[in-house]
Amino acid sequence: MLSIPEREAKIHMNMFRRAPMTLVRGKGSRVEDSDGKSYVDCVAGIAVDALGHGHAGLAEVIAEQAKKLIHVSNLYYSEPQINLGEMLISSSGLDKLFFVNSGAEANEGAIKLARKWGIQNRDGAFNIISTDNSFHGRTMTTVAATGTPAYREPFGPTTPGFEFVPFNDFNALKQKVNAETAAILLEPIQGEGGVNEPDPSYLKQVRDLCDAEGILLILDEVQTGCGRTGKMFAFQHYGIMPDIMTLAKGLGGGVPIGAVLANEKAAVFQPGDHGSTFGGNVLACAASEYVVDQILNQGVLETVNQRAAYLENKIKQLEDRSNLIVGQRGKGLLKAIILRDDIAPDVVGKCITAGLLANPVRPNAIRLMPPLVITENELDDAFEILETVLKEFE
Ligand SMILES: *Cc1c(COP(=O)(O)O)cnc(C)c1O
Repeated sequence: MLSIPEREAKIHMNMFRRAPMTLVRGKGSRVEDSDGKSYVDCVAGIAVDALGHGHAGLAEVIAEQAKKLIHVSNLYYSEPQINLGEMLISSSGLDKLFFVNSGAEANEGAIKLARKWGIQNRDGAFNIISTDNSFHGRTMTTVAATGTPAYREPFGPTTPGFEFVPFNDFNALKQKVNAETAAILLEPIQGEGGVNEPDPSYLKQVRDLCDAEGILLILDEVQTGCGRTGKMFAFQHYGIMPDIMTLAKGLGGGVPIGAVLANEKAAVFQPGDHGSTFGGNVLACAASEYVVDQILNQGVLETVNQRAAYLENKIKQLEDRSNLIVGQRGKGLLKAIILRDDIAPDVVGKCITAGLLANPVRPNAIRLMPPLVITENELDDAFEILETVLKEFE
């Protein structure tokens, strides 16, 4: 009989370097493979599984909604979509939103919205300035917006109208803005780029620049949003507001959903401009409504901040004991452990064998993005494994 990896190799167009195990169930921040082996999950489906695995309340909401309705078209109203939308609007301070199914789709929508706004309100301007090492998704337009050339170069001409500057370099950004610029697109903290935090004043400077030039600020909070950094949205650390914001990843706690939010000024879509069959699907919205309520109103955000302090300290302590660790980056439960050498993929490979899921986000950086509800005990186990593995590399 063929194994799962052997069966997969026959039929799947391989785009992922998969770890060798098949995961079958989980509880909290632990997952289990088909051999019954347990792992502490500090990947959480790439910052997706906000409430962890096997969450009874979330599972029940999904099951109850599935019994009532799984899907109705956006041609009709549905209450979970409105309930969720109201929570996102009131917690963000933005004015209008629509729902999509993924991060790339959210950014597609945001880009389309900003282009329409620029063409209407800024003399036809539609260029968008993005940053090197950014990540905005894998569709043809979001790869055009992504500051990693390897993600777009094999695919021929991409959507025009994107320019790039180094992240966290305000002067470079300022010099790039001209009459053709409609918007600046940024991750408040670059996720896939290596968990890169800007200087505390950077986003405020960018906000002021956008106001002075009369252009839009789009924040891609697909990874940083929904409590991940210790505030509901990362922009709330920096005392600014975006004109447009995108969400996905943690929003549905594992159920695919994304959202595009905008202020009154930028919310220029009219009936017929945009749409989605599944976007705002009632099952996804019911799940997300539960997740967002947990984050905002049921103590999850407080848990994130408590565990973030614990995690930061765990990294510091390990740094004191291991000369292979030279620092840490990130906020809340989006962290990167910086290594002295380019050994992150090898370290992570051995961590997986030893029972810890982590992500080598850069050759010298291990990203940790556990469920927002990870316990101290689970973090202790994760760091015991990491320390043991690191000793093999001393
Ligand atoms: C993951 C991610 C995306 C893409 O989301 P998908 O759901 O994979 O399309 C976009 N932007 C950021 C910042 C991300 O981290």
